[in-house]
This record gives sequence, structure tokens and C-alpha cells, in this order.
Amino acid sequence: KVRVRFAPSPTGPLHIGGVRTALFNYLFAKKHKGDFILRIEDTDQTRYVAGAEDYIIESLNWLSIPFDEGPGKDKGYGPYRQSERKHLYKEYADKLLASGNAYYAFDTAEELNEHRKSHEAEGKTFIYNWHNREKLNNSLSLSEGEVTAKIEAGEPYVIRFKSPTNQTLSLQDIVRGNIQIDTNVLDDKVLFKSDGMPTYHLANIVDDHLMEISHVIRGEEWLPSLALHVLLYQALGLEAPKFAHLPLIMKPVGKGKLSKRDGDKMGFPVFPLEWKTADGAIFSGYREDGYLPEAVINMLALLGWNPGTEQELFSLKELIEAFDLEKVNKSGAKFNPDKTKWFQQHYLQELDEDVLLERFLPLVTSKLDKEPKISEDTLKKVLAFHENDDLKFKKIIASVKERATFLSDIWEQASFYFEAPKSYNEKASAKAFKEGTKEILENVLSILESTDDYSEENLSKQIKGWITENNIGFGKVMMPLRLALVGEMKGPDVILILSILGKRASTERVKQAID
Ligand code: GLU
Repeated sequence: KVRVRFAPSPTGPLHIGGVRTALFNYLFAKKHKGDFILRIEDTDQTRYVAGAEDYIIESLNWLSIPFDEGPGKDKGYGPYRQSERKHLYKEYADKLLASGNAYYAFDTAEELNEHRKSHEAEGKTFIYNWHNREKLNNSLSLSEGEVTAKIEAGEPYVIRFKSPTNQTLSLQDIVRGNIQIDTNVLDDKVLFKSDGMPTYHLANIVDDHLMEISHVIRGEEWLPSLALHVLLYQALGLEAPKFAHLPLIMKPVGKGKLSKRDGDKMGFPVFPLEWKTADGAIFSGYREDGYLPEAVINMLALLGWNPGTEQELFSLKELIEAFDLEKVNKSGAKFNPDKTKWFQQHYLQELDEDVLLERFLPLVTSKLDKEPKISEDTLKKVLAFHENDDLKFKKIIASVKERATFLSDIWEQASFYFEAPKSYNEKASAKAFKEGTKEILENVLSILESTDDYSEENLSKQIKGWITENNIGFGKVMMPLRLALVGEMKGPDVILILSILGKRASTERVKQAID
């Protein structure tokens, strides 16, 4: 059975790279009718950040890629926080000690520093490995009695993995294929500390084993750990899961990895949700910036994966069907914020007016999304309008939606329906208000006053009929009329505007423009 896990460390907000890892795990699990597990890797208590776990869970939920198993959803493999699994790891460290695959090391921080410095003085880097492990302060140079005495005396120690010497490992990765590693380049990583805590490496492989993880899908930054993880499984006599390392996400311009700071520098979010740091700094998030989860998912899916066809638009369901680890690219994926906007524009159009209205109202009343500037007065009008004429409200949204990328654009495009123009755009009025315009508007006003049928058909017949009868250019009528109604040369079709505004508002606005 396919069982995959997303295993973030709660050291801060989940950035877009982490979300991409979660998404690929989710897609792979769902494609193979498997389980998607969330495991919180919090063995390093010094880097623990309060609120990070909630943030991770809220992000996955907002994006509609929830986990099947994890904190609060135990399906028999829990607990799912490593800090609550402490008692499980020691046994594996002991097994490795007993089989000679690991050893106690007593080097103090100062000693290690000394070694580092003396190596650097010779232009070399100090690595704790096969080359010098016999000469260092560890159990390999001590008798069994000496080791026991040190431990009993409470001397701090770590347990290190004893990397094999002079071997060539042949590792398999679903994305990268076969990778050859010379074991002499590996260092003897710390697996366990005398405070009873395992390090990432030990906890990670023990949990993947105990949770029966079939595939490890994670970021390329973990590729250097692959050899150690495979060696640990071998040394413990356990079957290793299959591995797939996802390509790095690169800056949109220039070279290098996308960093957490790039977003705010370049004006786009790199976090799913807004995050406030302890010292009050705010990192913007896709949700609060008004993006739809569908757009973010579609954008992320194409970071390092493509279906091998021209298709770019994918619903989550289509992604599950099309997803394939074999089609994940090896090379870094360039992050493209403009493309994200393109997806956003697309998915906003997909929403029908009911849904838009449902999401639009909380937007003007609360602060989710980029905050539209709206006065208390207007807000009251908007809400009253919504109460009295739901249908018309939907018409308003429908009339402006194609010009909107974000929900907040809908307000920007539609606000004129609720507020008569206070002034007229100068450039546009110079163009539209000419000699004879006043007369034209007076004629239009009398048409508007003489009818009660504000359907588009009727208004169009009457106004356009009058224009052709009198042989006036369309622009000469429609431009000043638009300006009178909107205050700017923007907005949907003028006839549609009149029909939505209705008799009272339409005539008032035209009168106001004539004065
Ligand atoms: N805790 C690691 C992280 O924060 C997990 C790496 C892995 O998936 O093995 O990314």
C-alpha cells in the first residue's frame, strides 16, 4: 500500500517549497489510493517555533490537501509528533551500537572546535569520519570499561554512525535515477544525544519504518542525506522505502534558490498564509493577498512537474489523475509570480456569481484579502443592497468579473454602482464633454425619464434608435454618458450599467453631469 508522509519541522511558517512537497506527496497518495501522513519533526527543541504546527495544518486545509493521518487523526501509527515518540528511538541506537555500526563519542564542543581550527590552518576541512575517527575522543579509542565509566559518571556523549570505508554505494532515486556515492566522503553523523533525544536522521528513518512509509518524497536539499539513510536501513536490517527528491525552486529572476526574503523584496508572497514573527514582522501570504487556493495549487503543481502535454490548467482532481513521479524534472524549477496571477485570473472567472458573492461580502466586511478602501456609509449601502436585491448584486458582479484578477478588483470595478461619481476624470471629460454634449445628455435624460422599462433590450432600442435616427456618432453619446454614470472611462457596457442602476440612479447621475 502506498503510504507517504510530509514531515516538516515546526521552525517557522511553511514556505512555498514545503507546500509543493506536501502537494506532490498528496497527489501521489491519492493517485495510488494510498495514505497521506503528516508527521511533525520537532526533535530539535531549540528551533521550535510556537504556532508553526497550526500554521502548517491550516495551510494544508486552506489548499484542500488535508492529511489522512497526523496529529489529532491517529490511525494506529501515532503519535505523529516526534517529541511524543522519544521513547521509541533509543532501542534503534542501541541496536546500531551492538552491531558495531555506531559508537559513543565524548568530544566536547571545544575539542571539536580545536580540530576544526587546526585543520583550517592547514587549509583542510575537518570531517569526523573514517579518516580520523580512531584518533578522536570516542569509544573506538577506549576500552569497554572506560566507556562505561564515562557514561556512568554522566559525561555528555553522542552516538555517531560508523560510515563504512572504501565502498561505492549505488542509490536509486525515482527522479534522479542511479546515484553512485563513495562512502569515504561521508561523515559520521550524530544519531543520538545523551539528553535522550535522537537527531533528525535517526528519528526520520525509524519513523518512516514504523509508519510503514512506502515512498519518501522530499526536497532536493535532503539528497545529501540519502546515503546515510540507506546505510541506516541496511545496518538495522530493515527494508528502505523508495525515494524521490524534488528539484529546487529557483528565483524568478537571476540565479539561485528562492529564499523566504525574495517574496517581500519582489512583491509577491512565498507563503500560503500570512505569518507574523515574534518581533512583529509580517510576511504576506497568498490567502490574505486574495489568491484562490485553486490558483496556488495549479501554480505549485507545475513547479518541477509537467504532464508532458501542453495542458496547463488543472483542477486538483485532474492533477491526481495526471500526476506521475517519473515526470518530475531533475533541474530546478523557476518560480513565476506572473503566471500565478494568470492562474488566479482564470480561476476567479470560473467561480459563478453565487460563490463570488458569498466570498465577496466577507471581503468588504472583514480583512481577508487585500483590503478594499470602502467607507462605512458605502458599506451600509452595499449590505442593504445585498439584502434587498440579491439578484441585482449578482448581476453587478457578473458585469465586472472579467476585468478582475482578485476579489478586491471586483470591488474596485463595481464600486461606482454604489457611489455616484464625485468628480469626473479630467482627461476623459476634456475628450467627452464637447460643444453639443449638454444637449445630447438632455435628450438621453428625457428618454431615461420617459420609460420605466429598464431592461437592456428596451434601453438599447430607445437610445440606439434615437442615435441612428438623429445620425449622431455613437461615441458622442456613449462617452459622456459613461462618464456621467461612472466618472471614468471604465466599466462594462453603458446600456448594461443603466439597466443595473435603474431609473432613479441613472437619471440622477445624468442630471448631475448636465449641471
Ligand atoms: N524534517 C525534515 C524537513 O523539515 C524532513 C525531511 C524529510 O522529508 O526527510 O524538511
